[in-house]
Amino acid sequence: MPKIAAIPGDGIGKEVMPLGVQAVEVVAQRHGLDVDFEWFDFANVEYFQQHGQMLPDGWQSQLGGFDSIFFGAVGWPQVVPDHVSLWGSLLQFRRQFDQYVNLRPCKILPGITPPLRDRGPGDVDFLVVRENTEGEYSNAGGVLFEGTDRELAMQETVMTRIGVDRVMKYAFAQAQKRRKKVTSATKSNGISITMPYWDSRFEAVQSDYPGVETDRFHIDILAAHFVQHPEWFDVVVASNLFGDILSDLGPACTGTIGVAPSANINPTGEFPSLFEPVHGSAPDIAGKGVANPIGQIWSGAMMLDHLGAEAAGREIETAIDDVLRAADPQVLTPDIAGQGTTETLGQAIIDVLRKE
Ligand code: ATP
Ligand code: MG
Repeated sequence: MPKIAAIPGDGIGKEVMPLGVQAVEVVAQRHGLDVDFEWFDFANVEYFQQHGQMLPDGWQSQLGGFDSIFFGAVGWPQVVPDHVSLWGSLLQFRRQFDQYVNLRPCKILPGITPPLRDRGPGDVDFLVVRENTEGEYSNAGGVLFEGTDRELAMQETVMTRIGVDRVMKYAFAQAQKRRKKVTSATKSNGISITMPYWDSRFEAVQSDYPGVETDRFHIDILAAHFVQHPEWFDVVVASNLFGDILSDLGPACTGTIGVAPSANINPTGEFPSLFEPVHGSAPDIAGKGVANPIGQIWSGAMMLDHLGAEAAGREIETAIDDVLRAADPQVLTPDIAGQGTTETLGQAIIDVLRKE
């Protein structure tokens, strides 16, 4: 029986999480999978205000035994600066649980008008695979001659063979299950040491996957191609910084941030993986009951995939498509041109899951 830790966090995280949990429970039950959710009330700003930290001491052992973590959103910048809340919670999970792959599917859904107006469902359907533990976000470096006019700041990019190869292999394995193409994001014309190394590892790894087509682009033109030729892409593998940028640009190309899911994966299974919507806590709409719950529910589908219940995951995606295609304005949330609420949209999807 998979054990899942539900951590709603802050703002709209608390509003969309119950619907995500319910959707997973309903579909899992129909597939004979007994999932067991346990809720945790830390990694939020109230907890920080009471304890001066985002997570309890010993959180690693508290969460380490779970199969997955289902996460909402964290952050409330009026009370705690974002770098404190983020570094104190989500980034701890990613690093301590070695979730070295960050996955973001980017897909235009029915009924959602993308900013690329001549595109529709089927035109954009790619997966960004971001390296999640090293690279440009290494924390190695420092400031010298502080306070003088010789002051200088430097930060190293760290690429290890293990770190680069494992994320690339993961990307190729994903491509084998999809349309069999991997694109590498590079910048070896400007970054003269680490990016040529990235390219050389891409060449080495690709030789193990002869059935998968490859290409590579420098990050600047790749960003332009995301907008102009999104149909070129199946799986895109990128370093931590480039992947961070692409995995915001990708969902932006598909319409609203409210529907986009993501996964932080520890592929070895030694530690729990974490599933969360791409959006943040959205203080501007929190408390109004109008947050789109699809990002959270779709993240639940990715979690079911990871738990081996792929058919259940597909059912969630189909239910989301069905409800969007029906396009009932009373059901849809305001970000996708409806007049409904988190509850009406979430329950409509759950109703489809009950009937399927
Ligand atoms: P973070 O730094 O955690 O990503 P952020 O403030 O940069 O947070 P979000 O919290 O995702 O970004 O909010 C960005 C914008 O998108 C806000 O205007 C917010 O209202 C909107 N938004 C985010 N999530 C949703 C959602 N689920 N439904 C509707 N609108 C959303
Ligand atoms: Mg943000």
